[in-house]
Amino acid sequence: MKFSSLKLTTPYLQLPALFYDRVAPTPLEKPFLISVSNDAAKLLGVDEDLSLDEELVDILNGKKLVGSEPFAMCYAGYQFAYFVPRLGDGRAINLGKVNGQNLQLKGSGLTLYSRQGDGRAVLRSSIREYLMSEAMHGLGISTSRALALIGSDTDVARERWEKGAIVLRLSPTWVRFGTFEYFNASGEHAKLEELADYVINESFSHLKSSEDRYLKMYAEIVRNTATTIAKWQGVGLNHGVMNTDNMSIDGRTIDYGPFAFLDDYEKDYVCNHTDRDGRYSFSNQPSIGHWNLAMLARALSPIVNYESALAVLDEVYGASYEEVYSEIMYAKMGLETEQENDKELFQWMLGALGSATIDYTDFFRKLSHFDGDKSELLDICVYRTSLEEWLESYEQRLEKETLSTSKRHEKMLGVNPKYILKNHILQEAIEKAEQKDFTMVNDLLKVALSPFEEHPDFEHLAARASMEAKNIKLSCSS
Ligand code: AMP
Ligand code: MG
Repeated sequence: MKFSSLKLTTPYLQLPALFYDRVAPTPLEKPFLISVSNDAAKLLGVDEDLSLDEELVDILNGKKLVGSEPFAMCYAGYQFAYFVPRLGDGRAINLGKVNGQNLQLKGSGLTLYSRQGDGRAVLRSSIREYLMSEAMHGLGISTSRALALIGSDTDVARERWEKGAIVLRLSPTWVRFGTFEYFNASGEHAKLEELADYVINESFSHLKSSEDRYLKMYAEIVRNTATTIAKWQGVGLNHGVMNTDNMSIDGRTIDYGPFAFLDDYEKDYVCNHTDRDGRYSFSNQPSIGHWNLAMLARALSPIVNYESALAVLDEVYGASYEEVYSEIMYAKMGLETEQENDKELFQWMLGALGSATIDYTDFFRKLSHFDGDKSELLDICVYRTSLEEWLESYEQRLEKETLSTSKRHEKMLGVNPKYILKNHILQEAIEKAEQKDFTMVNDLLKVALSPFEEHPDFEHLAARASMEAKNIKLSCSS
């Protein structure tokens, strides 16, 4: 099947007109293809190389696929704890659905919800979103996907003049916590039920004929959100903008803005330059997830008993989070049995990583080769003592395991990635792309999709950041 032969449907348009704005994409000038993810295309049942599809660029630039009826979605959201009653897709345009995936262009011009914005996305942020969508998938974390990226000659004003770009994104749902918040705040409570039924149909169809289905839907959203955030904490991802309009209703990671993976382990790292109070710091993410879910409970209160929803939140969130996080950390450390003082060993490790000043990803990758020789690990940290002491304890702890060293190494290498999208590397890829050299973007895509493998030709894409480039803050203007 060829991408341009797909036939779309538009189930969202069955909802009342208040839910969306029918709007056509505004094309970019002189569009050109930068990259495709044939891996993402498989989700659509497309098996022909996307880059050979002569219509691909035109479709990203607004040409209609059969059945497509473009529209922007309406939603609200708590932005940095302040409620904004109307946001919506200000620069995203939905094309329709095929094979359970909703296709969406990001950066394709003005919509009813653009407010002060220009409806555009610049090349820099589009490369970040494109690669990150695929990288998160490669890391096994629930995420929207990206099918293709085009650049253009269109000038877009940010802190400097930049060029417009468009990413074609895919997700099983684009409904956000903020979609419910919109209809609660606007007093359109009958619409909440229609939306909930739509969401159940789209994302939780096993609940369709359940009693108390809205409460059960909420419980699933709580569980999924906790699971995804536990995975962020495991891999060292700081999302950066956990506003409720950026929280997907099925708990997947969406809307990649000023995200960053930790370079050195710094638990209170804040990647978003505009987040002055550190609301969305790395260590706050689990509690912000809880806060956002509490806001969702409030938004659902006309159709779900508020106290019951809060009881579900308390019962499910912490337990799901702890279960997934602990499983991840055991696996990252190569521990298969549970022993008495493991919790202390974890906490000690995180404290030691903090005081050692050490790259989080590299630490675990090197730990995956640990055979008693501490020098490889100690050589990559600035302050050695705390980590050296911890490693001694870890070595003793390993004696309680039954797995052979080589088997342990093999398993650990499968959960501790070598390649994450380090910001300084992404920055280099962006600078090259701005000079029309897209090789690094495409190389990064390859490693992003198989981050646990060794890629001898791309060793440089796993390089640690220099002192100046470590844990930098990123601007939101994208
Ligand atoms: P974000 O923080 O990127 O998730 O964006 C928050 C809100 O602002 C969403 O409703 C976006 O659609 C909207 N937005 C962001 N950038 C632009 C832009 N350049 N033009 C129009 N709307 C935008
Ligand atoms: Mg957003």
